[in-house]
Amino acid sequence: MITIQKVSFQKKLVMLEQRRIDAQSQERSSVARQKCIEEHGLNCVVCNMNFEEVYGEAGKGFIHVHYVVPLHGRGYIQSEF
Ligand SMILES: [Zn+2]
Repeated sequence: MITIQKVSFQKKLVMLEQRRIDAQSQERSSVARQKCIEEHGLNCVVCNMNFEEVYGEAGKGFIHVHYVVPLHGRGYIQSEF
């Protein structure tokens, strides 16, 4: 027998999974990374850091991202789980 509680629980699971996928796609967009490198190179446009200059060969090809809106503040609903 399907109860309202079971439907509600399953709906919450689906919502949580969708938020997880959304968060991962925002955090790990390789397309966005490549477009940034093409547009700005490997020097950070915010703090001007260049990983290769700082870390030598180990930093070659690395960049970092400064988010305008922090990932934790993007309006996701607080999970009950
Ligand atoms: Zn930076």
